[in-house]
Amino acid sequence: MLIKNGNVVIFENDDVKVKKLDIRVNGSIIEKIDEKLDEIKGEKVIDATDKVVMPGLINTHAHIAMSIFRGTFEGCDLYTWLSEKIWPIEDKLTEEEVYNATMVSILEMISTGTTCVNDHYFFSKQIRKALEESKMRAVITRVLMDNDGEEASDKRINEFVELYESRNKANNLITYTVAPHGLYTCSGKVLSKSRELALKYNLPIHVHFLESINEIQSIKELHNNTGANVLKKYFNGLHLILAHGVKISDDDIEVLKSLDCGIAHCPISNLRLGCKIADTTKYLEESINVALGTDGQGSGNNLDMFEAMKIAGLIQGGIHENEKRITAKDVIKMGTINGARLLGLDDKIGSIEVGKEADIIIVDISKKLDNIKITPNVDIISNIVYNMDGRSVDTTIVSGEILMENRNVKVIDTKKVLKK
Ligand SMILES: [Zn+2]
Repeated sequence: MLIKNGNVVIFENDDVKVKKLDIRVNGSIIEKIDEKLDEIKGEKVIDATDKVVMPGLINTHAHIAMSIFRGTFEGCDLYTWLSEKIWPIEDKLTEEEVYNATMVSILEMISTGTTCVNDHYFFSKQIRKALEESKMRAVITRVLMDNDGEEASDKRINEFVELYESRNKANNLITYTVAPHGLYTCSGKVLSKSRELALKYNLPIHVHFLESINEIQSIKELHNNTGANVLKKYFNGLHLILAHGVKISDDDIEVLKSLDCGIAHCPISNLRLGCKIADTTKYLEESINVALGTDGQGSGNNLDMFEAMKIAGLIQGGIHENEKRITAKDVIKMGTINGARLLGLDDKIGSIEVGKEADIIIVDISKKLDNIKITPNVDIISNIVYNMDGRSVDTTIVSGEILMENRNVKVIDTKKVLKK
């Protein structure tokens, strides 16, 4: 496949540039990038004139089956929302509902430019089935916790083991994490078991971490320690994907710097549940990796990573008055290459580079009324972060396979999914 005449977003020595380039994809891999590549007879050609060609967006924290809760339970704090609203209903969800809700989310991701998602849920075989059918890239798990007793906890551990052991080894698009729900919902027993599983299968840990103020006290009551020290006690030496990280203190930062970890920042979910604002400017200054997530639609509203980028950039101005803070270039890296690093996949995805897999999105920037928000387009990077949304994406490619072209989703029967 040849993608020609595009304005290609490239990462060069910490900088982000947009260059007119052609890209050749051979199978799943980006084989060549040059100013001009001649067409090879018979190859698929995508003309990206008046389009931006950029790495697919990477959603590093979501619960994709939660599309079923979109627009519900307005105005709750995190603890009320989870314990009184979400958990009682989740107990009643069926496998079929999780499959259908996942399909809605996959449509949402493909059509808004997300090419990889890090999921955190249950009935995960149904989630995997939907992802495999749609040829999406994803990191999945079966969430572990024991705040409702040992029997339920053991069942979850068995389901995780069964999920992992039954993986399709030929499918390189789906990888796994071990996912204790949070340090306030998991005793030392489950955290130790999580460590054991992560070491046994060589997997990262994906855990909710310091999302809200109440969590600091809950962790102290359960573990008699700070969240960062609990991470160090149970997960030292493992790769950690920490969802949220809103309430990280300066002391916590020092501990986190000694661990192999990064933050999946979910600004929209944090604002909707009144959790305040993670200081991502400071985390990046302290060399802690920060990537972006949407969280589930129950709290994050939708899976449009362009919205996540915009809000992530803007809200730093809400906590840094007249100070240096993250830029649009930082934000676009948070949505792509930082996400790949956080998921441990940066040797494969996250940037448009020779040798990486072709996870690429193509965004229309032609002069037309629908693009009035980006006119005049003097700074493409700024416009991507602050003035575009997922509907601007016209083509989505995962591992060299075109999942959507000219806004037609090719891998899913859209009408059928919407009807279900
Ligand atoms: Zn979450």
